[in-house]
Amino acid sequence: MPTAGLRNLDDLGDVDGRRVLVRVDFNVPLDGAGAVADDTRIRLAIPTLDALRERGACLLLVSHLGRPDRRDPQWSLRPIAEHLAGLISEDVGFAPSLDEIPAGALVMLENIRFEPGETNNDPALAARLGALADAYVNDAFGSAHRAHASTEAIVRHVERSVAGLLFEREVQTLGQLLDEPQRPLVAVLGGAKAADKIGVINRFLELADTVLLGGGMSYPFFAVGGRRIGRSLCDEASLEAARRVLARPGTSDRLRLPVDLVIADRFSADAELLVSDPIDIDDEWEAIDIAPRTRELYARVIAEAGTVFWNGPVGAFEIEPFAAGTHAIARAVAETDAITVVGGGDSGAALTRFGLQDDVTHLSTGGGAALEFLEGNVLPGVAALTGDG
Ligand code: ADP
Ligand code: MG
Repeated sequence: MPTAGLRNLDDLGDVDGRRVLVRVDFNVPLDGAGAVADDTRIRLAIPTLDALRERGACLLLVSHLGRPDRRDPQWSLRPIAEHLAGLISEDVGFAPSLDEIPAGALVMLENIRFEPGETNNDPALAARLGALADAYVNDAFGSAHRAHASTEAIVRHVERSVAGLLFEREVQTLGQLLDEPQRPLVAVLGGAKAADKIGVINRFLELADTVLLGGGMSYPFFAVGGRRIGRSLCDEASLEAARRVLARPGTSDRLRLPVDLVIADRFSADAELLVSDPIDIDDEWEAIDIAPRTRELYARVIAEAGTVFWNGPVGAFEIEPFAAGTHAIARAVAETDAITVVGGGDSGAALTRFGLQDDVTHLSTGGGAALEFLEGNVLPGVAALTGDG
């Protein structure tokens, strides 16, 4: 069971007057001017920061931002530190490097990816980080699928290392989905490419009572079944993924595909739209959403579920006329009495755009880490905080 033995704040011991290094996930989207476009991830870390400060700890926050491979002012965390200061109405000190840490109760370190050792899980960098603190708290579940110096190696260079509140909640909620879901367990899986998510599809075909497919990832299944899909999203890897999924024993009992699709004559907001039912798409057209009959069928399955996991938009929802199917799924997920867990950056963005983000049990911030966890992989960042270590 992947949740067993995760050390948490209760295992941290006395931190009064001590310095705690907190690995947060402030890898937030920035707008064109370099300002924070969505601060959800920053806000979600605040309960852990508050809990530690109430216990008298001085905090050194460590995060990455983007994928710089060297010092690059475009990816500085300084504006993020300022944004945090605004959110909590307190001073947040800023450490431009590991050798220049100012005094203060709350200090943010510059982007840890400016250090070349971070992504190689370099023990020397981990030792330098560890030397800065008496204890380590990881609240960056979204980075737990990577063995990096600030997420994995560091635990061997501090006396105590535990999960923060957000990290713990992610592991608990996702773990419960795997271990003891209230049934029926329904997975709604969408997104652009079947090949990207074959592990998740296969896993939920084992775990769930029903798997509802939608979005671009469903079109290869029609192609493999001999239907015409026109210019709809589909690539060789996804055709192969669909063939492999369909060849698994038991798939047909659990897997549902759309029964009708909205098709467009071009991928643009002013496209002409039609419904393809039964699914048979001419060469010049492409599928862009699930259509009303599928929306209703899927909504009914979601309404009767005990637990729902949703990952991946069921249409190209970023374009307003293509968003109705994803909106219908979001509404059904928000309205059902089931336990509802939503994972994935774009699904979360869709939910938020429809104003339904507070109407689900758990909106995971874990992105790729959440999907890997659900596939059953051992995440290095989770393993590092598990057991007596
Ligand atoms: P998540 O981030 O929630 O895991 P993905 O990244 O797998 O989701 O997929 C999201 C993308 O899939 C969205 O940008 C959406 O526009 C796209 N998508 C879904 N269906 C279609 C479609 N029919 N045509 C084009 N893009 C689609
Ligand atoms: Mg995505």
